[in-house]
Amino acid sequence: LHKSKVTVVGSGNWGSVAAKLIASNTLKLSSFHDEVRMWVYEEILPSGEKLSEVINQNNENVKYLPGIKLGKNVVADPDLEHAVKDATMLVFVTPHQFMEGICKRLVGKIRGDAEAISLIKGMEVKMEGPCMISTLITDLLGINCCVLMGANIANEIAVEKFSEATVGYRENRDIAERWVRLFSTPYFMVSAVQDVEGVELCGTLKNVVAIAAGFVDGLEMGNNTKAAIMRIGLREMKAFSKLLFSSVRDSTFFESCGIADLITTCLGGRNRKVAEAFARNGGKRSFDELEAEMLQGQKLQGVSTAREVYEVLSHRGWLELFPLFTAVHEISTGRLPPSAIVEYSEHTPRLN
Ligand code: NAD
Ligand code: 13P
Repeated sequence: LHKSKVTVVGSGNWGSVAAKLIASNTLKLSSFHDEVRMWVYEEILPSGEKLSEVINQNNENVKYLPGIKLGKNVVADPDLEHAVKDATMLVFVTPHQFMEGICKRLVGKIRGDAEAISLIKGMEVKMEGPCMISTLITDLLGINCCVLMGANIANEIAVEKFSEATVGYRENRDIAERWVRLFSTPYFMVSAVQDVEGVELCGTLKNVVAIAAGFVDGLEMGNNTKAAIMRIGLREMKAFSKLLFSSVRDSTFFESCGIADLITTCLGGRNRKVAEAFARNGGKRSFDELEAEMLQGQKLQGVSTAREVYEVLSHRGWLELFPLFTAVHEISTGRLPPSAIVEYSEHTPRLN
């Protein structure tokens, strides 16, 4: 019997939880090898020890997911090429800004028959235009890539609280179902939709809206204002996605990857939290400084995504169509004060 072998590329907060989820299933499902390899971007802990060694000794990612056992079949591996070489199923889950470099290092190093899935929320902007991370993986590595996005604050899934997620796939339903089997547990309900771009853009763009929601919290503007920002943000998410890819489906915005992820991130995410602190400080302390101080090595995606979206909007002459996305970038770079988030959002044009 041909068994699939899984490697998780990334071991941050969500990466570690994804490895834990997957490892609980590979033990139960006969179509997968028990062992799950997890590539660790090596770092030296304050104790002087290597993070990958401590993960393997304690079965716990003491830096990015303290207090949670990953499962004995998770093996941390600091050598990227070694970690991926036998894998038939590659799960990519690093902050999006590192993916281009990682893919370039992996060219020619993976199996030709490997399948990939990206759990990464973000995109790259190239001269030719925006490039989703799943497309980057497909283009650079020559392999098919699905996506998994959803209302998935990692620390909550780590303690096995119920949540849902959405797999987006391009053509092959059988492969999507294999990913659904690999991730599904009684507390993690996964469903698949044939709309990779829609699912990935939902996961990517909601981080920009979460920054706006954090500004509203920092300005203490209350629940109605925050709900308004979320509604306007959702409209901009849908309009932007459809302008980029006419194939994007309305129904995708009602899946976990859409409205549900928007809600959870605007209530409890890291982007929201750091943006709240930014607004409380009147924009006087930079996002980089606040991120380093508040997240201890974890990374925000919303600020860089706002910049990437802004580049696309300005290049295509669409800035005026997207006042909320535009304002998030202008506030986070200090060109406008945090209070501009409501002033600008009020002028939302009619978007279909
Ligand atoms: P994280 O923000 O917790 O951790 C940062 C990771 O980046 C660490 O593993 C660190 O070792 C690594 N890193 C630092 N410098 C690096 C470099 N130069 N090259 C490669 N790696 C480097 O990571 P995360 O929470 O697992 O996030 C990964 C992706 O998952 C992001 O796109 C995020 O939006 C998404 N996501 C996160 C959550 C969550 O709740 N944490 C939930 C859903 C999706
Ligand atoms: P943050 O990165 O803002 O914590 O969002 C996590 C997330 O994507 C939840 O689905």
